Amino acid sequence: MEPIPKRRFSVGLTGGIGSGKTTVADMLAARGAAVVDTDLIAHQLTMPGGLAIPEIHAQFGAAFLTPDGAMNRARMREYVFAEPDAKVRLEAILHPLIRIETERAAAEAQGVYLIFVVPLLVESRGWKDRVSRVLVVDCQEVTQVRRVMSRSGLTEPQVHAIMAAQVSREERLAAADDVIDNDGEASALIPQVEQLHARYLALATAS
Ligand code: ADP
Repeated sequence: MEPIPKRRFSVGLTGGIGSGKTTVADMLAARGAAVVDTDLIAHQLTMPGGLAIPEIHAQFGAAFLTPDGAMNRARMREYVFAEPDAKVRLEAILHPLIRIETERAAAEAQGVYLIFVVPLLVESRGWKDRVSRVLVVDCQEVTQVRRVMSRSGLTEPQVHAIMAAQVSREERLAAADDVIDNDGEASALIPQVEQLHARYLALATAS
């Protein structure tokens, strides 16, 4: 039997929409962590020339592509919202590709330890076992709503609808090994990030 390769020390970074995942991931990256963003990978799969495009074309038709060959996001969102079956079919195309591309990016990433940014880590099967630790970026729901509204121009009901499809703050916190409190000023993140980074470096070297 082939020996099972030893995996690099890795952290699954998660949090609700607008909690500050990207902000924290960028701060850890600036200190030397290797960051693999699964949302970005998912997005790239459905860009022009993306690996998921041929199968989306085959299963859903050209009407679900934009003239430049990307997935027509708005149209697909509407369709899968109305047809749960279509959502299952789309996920069956995307999820295996996301897994493959995430592992590829992880294998190529340079850094003492790996951060996987996974918005739906607690909601997805498998992720908790894939990572050495789960880091939750936490803030109050009112803070999430305020940030997402000012960033994206979504309305309050739209933000609430997205949040309703995610686990509750309590469930997410229950899955955490480490928590960053991001209810305050962005500057309050610095000491928390530095402390965690030092801990992760120590754990990565020891593992
Ligand atoms: P996520 O990746 O979890 O959706 P982001 O890191 O993109 O969240 O943060 C959401 C928005 O809130 C961004 O515009 C970001 O610049 C802003 N933001 C994040 N943390 C803070 C903070 N502590 N104070 C003020 N704005 C913040």
